[in-house]
Amino acid sequence: MSLLVVGSVAFDAIETPHGKVDRTLGGAGSYFALAACHFTPVRLVAVVGEDFTEKHKSVFRGRPIDLSGLEHAPGKTFFWSGRYSRNMNERTTLVTELNVFAGFRPALPRAYLDSSTVFLGNIDPTLQRSVLKQIPRKPRVIGLDTMNYWIEGTPAELRRTLKHVHILMINDEETRQLTGEHNLLRAAKRIFRMGPRVLVIKRGEHGALLVSDKFMFSVPAYPLEEVRDPTGAGDSFAGGFMGYLAKAGRVNPQTLRCAMVYGSVLGSFAVERFGVERLATLTRREIESRARLFSKLTFFKL
Ligand code: AMP
Repeated sequence: MSLLVVGSVAFDAIETPHGKVDRTLGGAGSYFALAACHFTPVRLVAVVGEDFTEKHKSVFRGRPIDLSGLEHAPGKTFFWSGRYSRNMNERTTLVTELNVFAGFRPALPRAYLDSSTVFLGNIDPTLQRSVLKQIPRKPRVIGLDTMNYWIEGTPAELRRTLKHVHILMINDEETRQLTGEHNLLRAAKRIFRMGPRVLVIKRGEHGALLVSDKFMFSVPAYPLEEVRDPTGAGDSFAGGFMGYLAKAGRVNPQTLRCAMVYGSVLGSFAVERFGVERLATLTRREIESRARLFSKLTFFKL
């Protein structure tokens, strides 16, 4: 089952208490694709500038990641820079330079039009909807990520897009902002009325909570001795989650539970090194081994 993702491919400058990197490959689309490709082939829809060379592309090579939807536009690649606090719970965005991303109008290659699973990464909700409009038959599973910028800035457009979405994946703050409801379960009910039937709330070091109208499921973040760089943890979570669901070919309580575990596993690998460094070397064997540890970590009998 092919999985299409639209999202940013970027250069990031990141500073954490463990060090600093200057212009490393990043972007939500990059993290997502590198995480999801362990489960199913990924089609990446994004834009990069003239400064994005074959060398930068090489991180995707040798993996089932189709780059025919990666557009090269005149100008510079999207650049983002952020600094983390001492305990890494807070992040300050220092610079956001949209560059070629400002004029991005996603155009799907013909070969992508049969995508049955789609993830609309955190971009303008109008563009997210334009991706869906290009796909003749409605994908079986549509996931979406968004952020405060769009929730506050283009609420009506976001609502229109959400009507088409099955699974919304956002953090707790965004859940509250989108619904005006502090209690997450009551907030979930409001979100179900907007379109999505499943809400996945990403809660950083506290793991993630899935709420649907039928059941709830919670996973912890895998305990690590050293977290070097939290950037992209949420996008890697989304990649593991959607990749697993696309491979399973069915959405039911059992596959959603496993998708949550694989999401958390991929997120936990992403934070072990700076940027996409850890995901770039990750193997399926390592993923399965950590998933088994997860099962031990959370198992109990009543
Ligand atoms: P996360 O840590 O999950 O928030 O994702 C961080 C990644 O998102 C970085 O690699 C950034 O390049 C990318 N990013 C930051 N701001 C934006 C934005 N406004 N739109 C799209 N991608 C962004």
